[in-house]
Parts: sequence; structure tokens; C-alpha cells
Amino acid sequence: MDISQFPSFRLDKKIALVTGGSKGIGLAMACALGLHGANVVIASRNVGDLKKVTEEMSRKGLSFSWIQADVTDKESVQLMIEQIIQQYGRLDILVNNAGMNIRKPLVEIEEEEWDQVLNTNLKGIFLVGQAVAKQMIKQGNGKIINISSIFGGVGMPFQTSYAASKGGINQLTKVWASELSPYNINVNAIAPAYIKTPMTGAWLQDEERYQEIVKNTMLNRIGEPEDVAGPVVFLASDAANYITGHILYVDGGWTAK
Ligand code: NAP
Repeated sequence: MDISQFPSFRLDKKIALVTGGSKGIGLAMACALGLHGANVVIASRNVGDLKKVTEEMSRKGLSFSWIQADVTDKESVQLMIEQIIQQYGRLDILVNNAGMNIRKPLVEIEEEEWDQVLNTNLKGIFLVGQAVAKQMIKQGNGKIINISSIFGGVGMPFQTSYAASKGGINQLTKVWASELSPYNINVNAIAPAYIKTPMTGAWLQDEERYQEIVKNTMLNRIGEPEDVAGPVVFLASDAANYITGHILYVDGGWTAK
């Protein structure tokens, strides 16, 4: 066996964009890609957060830069991609991660709240994915990794809009995989269970809820942002060249129960 031909997990010289890369899971994934050699661009709305994280990670030796962008705004998304192409000439990896949640019973959700969640989590993924796909088609290669959730597949109370958005992400991941395969573009999704981030901080404060979630998890703990680091590096690397249209559950065994 010629092991010199084995694909690598390294991402040296690759250009990666992580939306929502200023905190939580996005930040952990951005760091993981950087640690494996990628030049990482993080994008979100709050410039203060972006600057702080970029300075910190640059001090730690990672290649980090930032762009302010709102994924719900087509013009802002367009500008973000143009800036990246102007600076680096290409974009190899997209981690389509920016997202939010408003947890409420079905009968209490306001129309504006539904719109806000769907605009960020589903329309945002579409706008960024479409703009990046145009560039990757020109290049003839690329890796798109959409960040879904276990709620794209399982039902739980208070997740109406969030679960609808994540179910949508699972489906568009499969559609894009089939549409973009002729261009050597792999499209996959990562679907985490509960991970400790600013998004879930307040929700996980409830001790009873916390213990219920732990009980539902085979590995008997709630996830940390670092738990998503390995899966994203794998899917972004040549080691995953034969994987497309896949939803990778990073859930401590929740959905296997
Ligand atoms: P988080 O800590 O709240 O971080 C969200 C990130 O998205 C921030 O960087 C935020 O920055 C950015 N963002 C939000 N709206 C944006 C917009 N319109 N345009 C650009 N950036 C925007 O959330 P997280 O828990 O890390 O979640 C990250 C992703 O993982 C989401 O897609 C979430 O649904 C998914 N996920 C999370 C969990 C979990 O338990 N935490 C589980 C499964 C899936 P700004 O606010 O500055 O824009």
C-alpha cells in the first residue's frame, strides 16, 4: 500500500471563511481550522468581538482576519465574498455557521420572531452558500460545511422556528451536494446537540433541564465548543474527499438512543 498517497488532514494554504466565527462553536471551529494550517476569515456583525478574537488568535500564531457582515443582508454577503476574493484570490472552505434561536411555545411565537430565526439560520445560510458556490464553481473545487443541529431531525418543545430552519439546512445540504458534485465541491452538515456557548448559556442555567439533557446523552455530558473542532477539520480536509451530502451528528450519542 502506497501510504504517501493517503489524503491529509492538514489545511495549509487553504482559505477558510467561518460565519459567526467571533464566539461559541464558530470560534472553536475557526481556531481548529487555523491550527491545521488554514488562513481563516471570521465574519459576524459586532466589530468589537471580531477585532478582539482576531488579535488574540494572531498573538497565538494563527492566521486570522475578520470582515464585518450580516448574513441576512444580500449586499453585505456579496461584499464579504468580494473582499475575500480580492485579498486571497480564492475561497476553499466555507463554514456556514452564523445562527440564533428564540425558544418559545408554538402558541406564543410572534411572526417577527419566526422571521428573525428563519432569516438568520436559513436565508443566511442560503445567501452565503449561493455567493460562495459561484466562486467555488469557478475554481472547480471547495468544501461547504453547513451548521445544522439535532433539532433538524428530532422534535423537542419550544424549537418551532429553530427546528424548521435546521431541517431546512439538512435538506439544502443534500440538494447542494448533488448540484455541486460536478464541480468537485463537497457539501456536508454538522449537527451538534447542546453545546455550551453564549447561545445556550441562559437556557442551560436551569438545573433540571441541564440534568435532563445529560441523561439524554450517551456520553453523559453536555458538549463543549471544542467537541466540534475535529469534525469540522475532517470535513474541510482532503481526508473527506469522498463524503458529500452527509449530516454528521456531533451529539454524544443523543440521536442514537
Ligand atoms: P453563539 O455563541 O450565539 O454565536 C453565534 C455567532 O453567529 C456569533 O458570532 C454571532 O455574532 C453570529 N451571528 C448571529 N447572527 C448573525 C448575522 N445575522 N450575521 C452574521 N453573524 C451573525 O451561537 P453558537 O451556539 O456558537 O451557535 C453557532 C451555530 O451552531 C448556530 O448555527 C447554531 O444554531 C448551531 N448550533 C448550536 C448549538 C448549541 O447548543 N450551542 C447546537 C446545535 C447547533 P454577532 O451577533 O456579532 O453577529
